[in-house]
Amino acid sequence: MSNVPENAPQHCPGTQSQDAGKASACAGCPNQNLCASGAANLPDPAIDIIKNRLSNVKHKILILSGKGGVGKSTVTSLLGHGLASRNPDVNVGILDADICGPSQPRVLGVNGEQVHNSGSGWSPVYVTDNLSLMSIGFLLGSPDDAVIWRGPKKNGMIKQFLSEVDWGELDYLLVDTPPGTSDEHLSAVQYLSKAGLTGAVVVTTPPEVALLDVRKEIQFCQKVNVPIIGVIENMSLFVCPNCQTRSEIFPATTGGAPQMCTEMQVPLLGSLPLDPLLARCCDDGRDFLQELPNSPAVQALKAILEKIVTTCESTSQ
Ligand code: ADP
Repeated sequence: MSNVPENAPQHCPGTQSQDAGKASACAGCPNQNLCASGAANLPDPAIDIIKNRLSNVKHKILILSGKGGVGKSTVTSLLGHGLASRNPDVNVGILDADICGPSQPRVLGVNGEQVHNSGSGWSPVYVTDNLSLMSIGFLLGSPDDAVIWRGPKKNGMIKQFLSEVDWGELDYLLVDTPPGTSDEHLSAVQYLSKAGLTGAVVVTTPPEVALLDVRKEIQFCQKVNVPIIGVIENMSLFVCPNCQTRSEIFPATTGGAPQMCTEMQVPLLGSLPLDPLLARCCDDGRDFLQELPNSPAVQALKAILEKIVTTCESTSQ
């Protein structure tokens, strides 16, 4: 988000500074002539291309987390299935931009599917009639390939994803982002915010170690004017299926997400319990909402979905 280019010299004044290309720190920088001519400060043409491409997408929602492993991808897939099954006339897309660990093809049961490129762009894979998915996982030779990519290549792929997928008309696009505030995370937020983001849904677990990173993530959103639709506390409780005893597997020593939301004045969307059958459904690529419609996790998810839909509808009025 900064106007200091990657690999810039230590005291780079930034591309928007009047001293760009002229400061003593610029001597010897390979971008010196570009900065001095003002060309480095021109808006990235991809911003307009992405804006155009996503103009038929009503609500663009980022799914964020501070740390990996808190259930961001799981929650994205649940929200995708939930929004699509809640109203069959609504079209939902999932963009798996978690470039270092694209798990949506497996979780949504479309692992190994081929994506096709036509004159109008990449066609996403249809999970159901009204739920489509585009993932870096479809383009990789091996699932381990992306891990070794460096920043610029990942950023290029995110740009390509956002600008070249032919989604058609969508009511919701859920973007499963890489965790934290990595380069590719910043790219996704930067491009999408220019294309009109509805907001971000933030996923966390209750312990303070997860909340610490989530606070930073929320502050980052506030800094770059991305509205927070709300926070989902995942794996908050475990209810034993045999004896119904409730256990806090991940204890909320500092009040968990509810207290953090109060402190940071952001909405709490709800809490999802830990359910081993949910993890199993994800591993097998089965739709948990259909398989266990009466489970506490699905009931909690439904309440969360209503809040998200209400927020989205109120922003589009
Ligand atoms: P992230 O995307 O944040 O890295 P994942 O969505 O991949 O995290 O989840 C990590 C692991 O936790 C997965 O094995 C997933 O199935 C499991 N998991 C996530 N949420 C739950 C839950 N509420 N109950 C049981 N297992 C869960």
